[in-house]
Amino acid sequence: MTFKDRLIRMMEGRYGADELFYLLTGLYILLTIVNIFVHSWILHIIGLVIFAVAVIRSLSRNIPARHKENSLVLRAGEKLGIKRKVKAQRPARDTVNFAYKKCPACKKTLRLPRKKGKHNTKCPACGEEFSVKIR
Ligand SMILES: [Zn+2]
Repeated sequence: MTFKDRLIRMMEGRYGADELFYLLTGLYILLTIVNIFVHSWILHIIGLVIFAVAVIRSLSRNIPARHKENSLVLRAGEKLGIKRKVKAQRPARDTVNFAYKKCPACKKTLRLPRKKGKHNTKCPACGEEFSVKIR
């Protein structure tokens, strides 16, 4: 068994990293950097505790509880005006079964069955007839 297999097996059924994990880890790094200048053992211990909490959470098997904590933090962040970076999820294009061509008249993208060769097609939006080449 390789190290990677062992790691995957160890993380099975465990919560893993979430936004709160990155927040806590970031806080730990920040405290560590600050502590380079201030040399405070209190800051050092606070940092270690924060990091320990982050690691313990990620190894937890009580996923609903951890999920609740994370969403609480996210909601608090939203109140502070921090928006989650949610990528607009576009449905993936099925490029195996379809070809996508733009209508020359209205520029609308048409989804055509992927059949090789030259075809005549009619745009359903504007009625323009044109020929497309599908490779
Ligand atoms: Zn058109």
